[in-house]
This record gives sequence, structure tokens and C-alpha cells, in this order.
Amino acid sequence: MADEKDKGTPVAVAPGTPGSGENVCRCCEGKGKLVDGGACPDCNGTGKINAPIGGA
Ligand SMILES: [Zn+2]
Repeated sequence: MADEKDKGTPVAVAPGTPGSGENVCRCCEGKGKLVDGGACPDCNGTGKINAPIGGA
């Protein structure tokens, strides 16, 4: 379908999305920073993301 490529990053959804919940960012493991010290782009440095529950 779309050019949805699997980049190995967590699938984040908008806050308040039904069926989603707060989860530890798998990109930075909840640290909010990448191993090189840069802010995590996936969670915007919060260390948490809103991810769909029950999804694989
Ligand atoms: Zn992160």
C-alpha cells in the first residue's frame, strides 16, 4: 500500500488514541536520549511514547 517501511522503530500514535497507551520508548529504552547523546526523535526526549496496545 503506502510506502510504509519498517525502520525498526516503535509505532507511535497520537495521545488519547483509543486502544493506545503510554509505553517505554524502545528506541532509547526510556532514557530520552540516544546512545550518542542526542535527543531521541521517537519520543522527543521524553522516554515514553504512545503506542497501540495489543499490536505486534
Ligand atoms: Zn525515545
